[in-house]
Amino acid sequence: MELTPIIKRLKKNIPFCITATICLLLLIGVSLGIYAKETTEEKKAEEKITIIVDAGHGGIDPGKVSETGVKEKDLNLAIATKVAARLEKYGYNVIMTRTGDASLAEMGAKNQKRSDMDNRIKLINDTKPACLLCIHQNSYTDPAIHGAQVFYQNLSAEGQLLAQTIQSRLISEVEPENKREAKPGDSYYILKKSSCTSVIVECGFLSNPEETIKLSDEAYQDLLVKAICAGLNDYYMPEKNNEADDTSEEDTIQNPLDIFRKNKTNEE
Ligand SMILES: [Zn+2]
Repeated sequence: MELTPIIKRLKKNIPFCITATICLLLLIGVSLGIYAKETTEEKKAEEKITIIVDAGHGGIDPGKVSETGVKEKDLNLAIATKVAARLEKYGYNVIMTRTGDASLAEMGAKNQKRSDMDNRIKLINDTKPACLLCIHQNSYTDPAIHGAQVFYQNLSAEGQLLAQTIQSRLISEVEPENKREAKPGDSYYILKKSSCTSVIVECGFLSNPEETIKLSDEAYQDLLVKAICAGLNDYYMPEKNNEADDTSEEDTIQNPLDIFRKNKTNEE
């Protein structure tokens, strides 16, 4: 057998072989690159810390109602929505239990309140978030009582620490004269039933007329929201509190505390 013609033919095809190999290698490289990018993006989404933000009450359940007719459910939703937006900008994966004025109760359920609570708890325990953050407003028989307070699951060390970081931010950034401390909330059904680290922020007292006015003020709400989110960051991502604050549009206009103080002086 004569080898020369075969070698000659191979020699002739060398440029084609090289081009084909390069193309094949490039194709493999690109595919591997796309795969790697997809897996890192999937991983990033999985790595996000999931927080459930729960606006208390809603629908036929107004929660506490102030003497002037301010409903707790409306303040809870306004504050919870702002908290959720801010946490999302910090990079958390946020889920809200409600985004409108509706409870989670089944249509036709005899006990609407229980059905609402059970569905909230089902959502929480199915999602298995890092934490549950409930937003509520307080009330008491003595109208002089005021101030934000955070409650946590009894005997939960994580819950206690998270409640403490949020409480101390609420004191330092909103109301330095507030002497309240984070406390275990034994009587809260949602704290008893939820299987993750859970805290309830009682933002203020609707039984206190002055505090009711403050809680209805958007600039004051923004102060509360900033403090609550900073407290969550202190626990989960402290580095976020050192980043330049570009998390909300109003911040670039004016400091919410200044707006609140200005509104207050204008009223007086
Ligand atoms: Zn409530």
